[in-house]
Amino acid sequence: MSSEATQRTLSAGDPLGTHRVLDPPGALPQPAERLCADTSRHFETEIVVDVETLNIDAASFRQMEEASGGDPDGVARLVLETVARRGKQHNPVTGSGGMLLGVVRRVGALAEHRGFAVGDRIATLASLSLTPLSLRRIVAVRPTSAQIDVEGAAIVFASAPLARMPGDMPERLALALLDVAGAAPQVARFAGSRDSVVVLGAGGKSGLLCAAEARRCVGRSGRVIGLEASPEYAADLRALGICDHVAVADARDPIAVRDVVLPLTGDAGADLTLSCVNVPGVELSAIVATRDRGKAYFFAMSTSFTAAALGAEGIGKDIDLYIGNGYAHGHAEHTLALVRESPALAQLLSSRYG
Ligand code: NAP
Repeated sequence: MSSEATQRTLSAGDPLGTHRVLDPPGALPQPAERLCADTSRHFETEIVVDVETLNIDAASFRQMEEASGGDPDGVARLVLETVARRGKQHNPVTGSGGMLLGVVRRVGALAEHRGFAVGDRIATLASLSLTPLSLRRIVAVRPTSAQIDVEGAAIVFASAPLARMPGDMPERLALALLDVAGAAPQVARFAGSRDSVVVLGAGGKSGLLCAAEARRCVGRSGRVIGLEASPEYAADLRALGICDHVAVADARDPIAVRDVVLPLTGDAGADLTLSCVNVPGVELSAIVATRDRGKAYFFAMSTSFTAAALGAEGIGKDIDLYIGNGYAHGHAEHTLALVRESPALAQLLSSRYG
């Protein structure tokens, strides 16, 4: 390559973000150990964002809360340490990130076609585990929503999706919804009319959205069964009226889950089971809750591929196992529309995250 061509490549940056990887060389940003988040280095495919709020992945936030004995200042310290060490909020224990809300500071010349302008309020739709991030300080930690207000800067690569904040709902609520925007569209792809659907962790953010989407898809002759550990969240879910049955149950206990689900599904198991919990150890519960040749969809980042694959094999269960892709075409619009369509769901989510 000529030196002019090399210079052009350097100042454009790689659309996949490899130009920001410090360690190990040649890695993509998500699996990389360390990224360069120096915003004084300009690359024309990048969009630079002044960050206001981090929406931490639920499994990651819970892990950091547990590691700090429930102390929000301890969570703040862990986030500052991770970002300082890795140049991104990539939880070294759970491997997950989250996403962020901020204001566009700079649009590279080769990113202008994306339609964003300086001053736009945006949410990133790619994981914090691959987004270069630097933090000046943490302003507030909000455990109920797993959101952290910060002052900092982030870099969005050409290949990383992002969305303009909607004008018709509180930004914190929209941020919470966009964090799990990949969940409901997948339910719409998998759940058929008259199907039975089980949602583990159904009272949480993604669980509520999946249960609402399942209700839309299966109709009134189908069946939606929600399992939730928190009695308070289970009561909220019951009050929404989208589930045929809501049980307070520990999704890490496969026998308890089986005893709830089988009697409600003619002893066969559900056509589709979704794992939306924020804790590890529910793979076998999802598997025993699913009928022969049914589908188990693991949206939870706390899922172990090994536990799911070997667990299904070990009990001779021929079901399709799906990993939750955080991205689906049109996922942000799909999820926001689902919530706009249901005033009761919107009100509940606003009361928690708005
Ligand atoms: P959330 O709002 O915290 O919901 C999780 C729910 O699961 C909560 O209601 C929680 O109850 C419940 N739960 C916890 N332990 C349980 C148990 N043993 N049995 C039954 N229910 C239990 O979390 P979220 O934001 O919806 O996220 C859910 C999962 O999706 C997380 O694992 C997150 O990492 C993952 N996620 C995946 C993607 C992706 O792209 N695939 C994107 C974003 C998030 P408590 O409130 O009592 O704990």
